[in-house]
Amino acid sequence: MTSSPLIGVLALQGDVREHIRSLESVGARAVAVRDLPTLAHVDGLVIPGGESTTMSKLAILDGFLEPLRAARGAGLPMYGSCAGMIMLADRVTDARPDQETIGGLDVTVRRNAFGRQVDSFEADVVMPVLGEEPFRAVFIRAPLVDAVGPEVEVLARVGDDGTIVAVRQGHVLATAFHPELTGDHRVHEVFVQMVRKQA
Ligand code: GLN
Repeated sequence: MTSSPLIGVLALQGDVREHIRSLESVGARAVAVRDLPTLAHVDGLVIPGGESTTMSKLAILDGFLEPLRAARGAGLPMYGSCAGMIMLADRVTDARPDQETIGGLDVTVRRNAFGRQVDSFEADVVMPVLGEEPFRAVFIRAPLVDAVGPEVEVLARVGDDGTIVAVRQGHVLATAFHPELTGDHRVHEVFVQMVRKQA
């Protein structure tokens, strides 16, 4: 592939523009994905933060759900932040009854897991794939990963109980936090490398 892959950001709902900016700052070309022809042209796809129940509803209504599942099944690299992580999980606790996901990560995530008092917080997260320097991570009504299957790589944990907040399984990457809202683009860099490798 050329040195600059084209990465889509699913634009059903959520913080699309922030991801586009982060991807561009690490040298990728980025495009909002609002229709299926655009989806068919991208080398990788970001599922942004936002609200997973709304995203699920719109994905079903707009006929995106099956094409997204098929693209992921065919090996399209995907990265989900926060609500995007929920969309990529095979199992969701505290989901709405009709909530669907794209799946791809053999994990169980719990929505809004950090509770009311800590709706939003920041934490220094050690994430060895990013190098030694901790990542200042922003969590907003974030999910956590309750259980992971044997094929899942745990990339980061927070807190004394070692809560899992970043995972990867093959070509699917997810973080419970929002790197797109910070000036630190190392997570996007890792994803762009995954896309380059796959193409
Ligand atoms: N709580 C949201 C959900 O369940 C996720 C929040 C976020 O993406 N910042 O989808």
